[in-house]
Amino acid sequence: MKALRYHGARDVRVETVPDPQLADGKDMIVKVTACAICGSDLHLYDGLIPTLQKGDILGHEFMGEVLEVGREVRDVQKGDRVVVPFNISCGDCFFCKRQLWSLCDRSNPNAALATKQFGAAPAGLFGYSHMFGGYPGGQAEYVRVPFADVNHVKIETDLSDEQVLFIGDIFSTGFMAVDVCDVQEGDVVAVWGCGPVGLFALKSALMLGAKRVIAIDRFPERLELARTKCDATPIDYEKSDVIEVLKELTSGRGPDICIDAVGMEAHGHGLEFWYDRVKQAVGLQTDRPTALRQAVMACRKGGTVSVPGVYGGPIDHFPFGAAFNKGLTLKMGQTHTHRYAPALLQRIAAGEIDPSFIITHRLHLEEAPKGYDIFQHKKEGCIKVVLKP
Ligand SMILES: [Zn+2]
Ligand SMILES: [Zn+2]
Repeated sequence: MKALRYHGARDVRVETVPDPQLADGKDMIVKVTACAICGSDLHLYDGLIPTLQKGDILGHEFMGEVLEVGREVRDVQKGDRVVVPFNISCGDCFFCKRQLWSLCDRSNPNAALATKQFGAAPAGLFGYSHMFGGYPGGQAEYVRVPFADVNHVKIETDLSDEQVLFIGDIFSTGFMAVDVCDVQEGDVVAVWGCGPVGLFALKSALMLGAKRVIAIDRFPERLELARTKCDATPIDYEKSDVIEVLKELTSGRGPDICIDAVGMEAHGHGLEFWYDRVKQAVGLQTDRPTALRQAVMACRKGGTVSVPGVYGGPIDHFPFGAAFNKGLTLKMGQTHTHRYAPALLQRIAAGEIDPSFIITHRLHLEEAPKGYDIFQHKKEGCIKVVLKP
């Protein structure tokens, strides 16, 4: 089959590799009909993620048709159309039973590597280095999906791939970022970062009852999309004092909910490595801790700061005293995709939202290296790249 493989920093190639095989009775093989490049894939692309190896197949946002199932699989069969959540869950451990799907204790065979880094290991992820399980990813023609009964959302409507693909990651991620904040009627929600997750957080905030949403970014095309498609009040952080503008918009109090949809999204090999990489980073990456600090400083007293962006290590100059003295609630973590995806599919089917509005580029899988380049450098107004094998 054809698959996108990592060869080193900013060097990814579509190559022919052996087709995946069932390795366990609970596995299924999915024939991919659509996949996407996620913002967090760019850190793999940049070579920032330790334990990623030459030849690894990337991609964790994908969907397709079930081609083959193992003998213990009960809930899905050949021919079914499925979206696969980006995190792999067993469905049966202490954490899965508590709906903490992204914290599954059984799906990461390399848990020791992650435990060294974090004190305990999160769930395995598709196409996201060996620290997260070493699973081949979905920017490929075929993928092996472990615990098939648990790791799928069946699509039984005639909705298009582009409409449903994102429930497997970024739509669920944006939605959870707001859902965990317990939005009250009349709340004002501010979102830092108008990439795909930020845009879905804005949409979700309105769906969950926010009175007003505010979008903070510096790319004009992103702010425009936030304004026109998500009814957000845009703030260009390069042109205005974000905290002052937020105060003006909220009777001097600050937003009730502040969401950092930028994230650090870099994982390190030991804390010093990670810290150094962040200090070396330029452009957007040096802005990233700024977003979190601003969110804490801007949030109204007693409000909630939510962090859907991925962080990998310690952060410098975090205003913990401000969070404490303002009585803030902090929410964060990798998405419990399995908890949200089915309900979001219903919202899409009901016509509440069409998530395909974020797609700016549609490419063939063979053009994936070009897709990475465009997305990495935000060329051609790129917000989201969808690939078709
Ligand atoms: Zn992702
Ligand atoms: Zn589990």
